[in-house]
Amino acid sequence: MAKIETERREFIKYSTLGILGVVLAGGVVFSPYALKAENRLRPPGAVSEKEFLGLCIKCGQCLQVCPFHSIKLADIATGHGEGTPYIDALERGCWGCEAVPCVLACPSGALDHECSKIEDAHLGIAVLEFPDRCLAVNETPVPKGYNDKMKKFVDGVTNINELELKLLEKFDGYEGKECTLCADMCPIPNPMSAISMIPDSKGGKRPEIYDGCIGCGACEEVCPTNSPSIVIKPRVTYKSFYENKS
Ligand code: SF4
Ligand code: SF4
Ligand code: SF4
Repeated sequence: MAKIETERREFIKYSTLGILGVVLAGGVVFSPYALKAENRLRPPGAVSEKEFLGLCIKCGQCLQVCPFHSIKLADIATGHGEGTPYIDALERGCWGCEAVPCVLACPSGALDHECSKIEDAHLGIAVLEFPDRCLAVNETPVPKGYNDKMKKFVDGVTNINELELKLLEKFDGYEGKECTLCADMCPIPNPMSAISMIPDSKGGKRPEIYDGCIGCGACEEVCPTNSPSIVIKPRVTYKSFYENKS
């Protein structure tokens, strides 16, 4: 009985918020869910957010073929775009399959088949948002237990595959060493086109991002600081972020 009451309260809460969002969106103010959704990282090949929401039939095919368990479907708690696929790079980024099976599996055009290899994808752009936290900038070695998060993720997956285990192996062995994890783990075929460690003015090093970055989110996932120092700006381009800054 208590559970039913809780579910009912949750339903009323989300319905009310949903209606409020629609009402506000009809005026000048946008729903907070809509704003959040604009910042959602979509799978490779995703067309513009507006088109994506119209085209995606919420079939979950992309999610089923992803060997890294990177794709989730938005539920009612995530509000806007319920049932559509997204990537939470904090938990698991896209690990850049060369032949983009998620795109191949998509029957609706929401993931554009023009994206035929991972370098064609553009999910967003990586940004060293919190350089003050970055271990490389601060010349702090990679701490003990840095890989617990990825181990826990893999432990929680029932149909784990070999690629995920290989990833874990590659990720191991950094404890006590200089942190170069974001650059070393970048999964695209030519990672140097996306990221490299360069000397920082404070004496340490820092990751620098280049226009080959596809915004896959792997660097955000592996960053060992409590809250990642490097984060992905979904749907933002290198040009709009870096070139307009300089
Ligand atoms: S490219 Fe591979 S890892 Fe990335 S979302 Fe698609 S299937 Fe998953
Ligand atoms: S395969 Fe395409 S249509 Fe199906 S959920 Fe994924 S993006 Fe949407
Ligand atoms: S730097 Fe590499 S790992 Fe990070 S988002 Fe860009 S392509 Fe992905």
